[in-house]
Amino acid sequence: MTAFATTQAATPEDVRPSPPASGHAPVLAIHGGAGVERGDLDAAGLAEARAALETALRAGHAQLQAGAPAMDAVEAAITVLEDAPSFNAGKGAVFTHEGRNELDAAVMDGATGQAGAIAGVTRVRNPILLADAVMTSSPHVMMVGEGAEAFAQTQDIALVDPAYFRTERRWQQLQRALEAERRSQPQASVLTGDARPYFGTVGAVALDGDGRLAAGTSTGGMTNKRYNRVGDAPLIGAGTWADAQCAVSGTGWGEYYIRAAAAHEICARVRLRGDDIREAADAVIDREIPAAGGNGGAIALDADGRVAFPFNTPGMYRGWIGADGVPHVAVFREDEIALPDGR
Ligand code: ASP
Repeated sequence: MTAFATTQAATPEDVRPSPPASGHAPVLAIHGGAGVERGDLDAAGLAEARAALETALRAGHAQLQAGAPAMDAVEAAITVLEDAPSFNAGKGAVFTHEGRNELDAAVMDGATGQAGAIAGVTRVRNPILLADAVMTSSPHVMMVGEGAEAFAQTQDIALVDPAYFRTERRWQQLQRALEAERRSQPQASVLTGDARPYFGTVGAVALDGDGRLAAGTSTGGMTNKRYNRVGDAPLIGAGTWADAQCAVSGTGWGEYYIRAAAAHEICARVRLRGDDIREAADAVIDREIPAAGGNGGAIALDADGRVAFPFNTPGMYRGWIGADGVPHVAVFREDEIALPDGR
């Protein structure tokens, strides 16, 4: 967040439009993953997840109301979701084949073009804060594994015992995935080992009062992943992207998002072709990725504050908050959610 000094070279002004003049109505949109289905949760679990989404929205909104940059709102919201055991990020992350939690995260600042990402960390309590530190306090964009954790120690980023991330629900998901793999179900794969994946990545996109956009994504990846597999979430352009006109965070079957450069593809259509954000997001998430065999969802936000929530799964934890500070949250496809219409 802003506490970190910027050491990356500034992007030349001639290639990146400066943010529009102030006076934008700030907006924050979040997701908690596109893998949720009705049978997954009892009433208490659903209420807990919805409460965490609202808390995350309020935390981000407080930053925007205080005049902080969009990036601070993104990180404030994602930190709440990482700490909440309901989602596949931070505490509550899914397990690898070997029974570990390996975490990935990325941030991108649309106003400056700066980005930071980490992958395969096992001890960083809030991976989104380490991604930010990579962006603001190193000359690099991406760090992985032990090196990323060594860097975290130089940045006062909180490290925890790996047991911190464990939840019984995720452990049982891994046991079912391993069992399905043993029985070699047709859909069983190295990645999920189960007939259905558990997308639960968290993400946020924000537009601040000065017209700056930012995006961030944090995940445990996919259940039963192995060989240090890394998905789309920390790959700039795949699961996370922000520029001066568009910000996207994805959730879904990462391999398909990587091959589609999904987040960048959505924003390129907005920036270069002038496509409407909802049309661009629907085209990539709901048509091109399913046509290739993948599935999932995303949140996308443009510089006018218009939000898209495409997904092609039974549910996606999602929400947004505008200048009035009223959180709007939805989980399943049939849940009503009013959309912000921009300025
Ligand atoms: N996109 C993530 C990955 O493939 C999974 C998710 O969205 O939950 O790692």
